[in-house]
Amino acid sequence: MNLENTVKFHSPKSPQFTDSPRATASEGLTGTDVMGSFGMVQSRSALGFTAFSGKMDLSENDKRKAIQLLTQHGLKHCDKVAALRKLETKVKGKVVQTLATFAFASWSRSAATPGARCKDCHGTGRACDREKTEESGVFTEKECNRCSGVGYSKLPGKSVYRGVAYALSADQWKRGVSQFYDSLISELDKSENHANSMLRIVTTSFE
Ligand SMILES: [Zn+2]
Repeated sequence: MNLENTVKFHSPKSPQFTDSPRATASEGLTGTDVMGSFGMVQSRSALGFTAFSGKMDLSENDKRKAIQLLTQHGLKHCDKVAALRKLETKVKGKVVQTLATFAFASWSRSAATPGARCKDCHGTGRACDREKTEESGVFTEKECNRCSGVGYSKLPGKSVYRGVAYALSADQWKRGVSQFYDSLISELDKSENHANSMLRIVTTSFE
């Protein structure tokens, strides 16, 4: 079982997991097994699990919690960047929280996010390979250049910088802070993968 499979165990009306017999029949898992597994993954891989639930719009609470956990992670590591280290404690907290909020929003984007769909490939991630098509006379596709094949655009760095420009210069943003911002997005990827492996481990015993 992976995180994608957990979506059907959520009730659309509440952030609680449902014990729906339809969902359990297809997986051979009882609702109680599943809820127990979720609890275990949530405690061992809190950021990955809440970030995934938040991204899938399963719970507003998970969105807030994921941003909060990512902020905590960021505060632990931000002093490696000189420009952030020099900030006053209160300002630093606000800046890191803003960066975590943007990082989560950018990470949660998909081709379905309003305004995020790639203009070149319209969300498909594939584009016509003109050179090969002309050469061979057969319509050939390649990965879309603009979005690197994901079908949507990440939040532009410019908008992220605007959110913290009151505390950081454009130069500071370029030299360290934007890299730190990117590391927050990588942390979300890493945490989601970790939560997925945890879920696989704890549900294997039921399959
Ligand atoms: Zn594209």
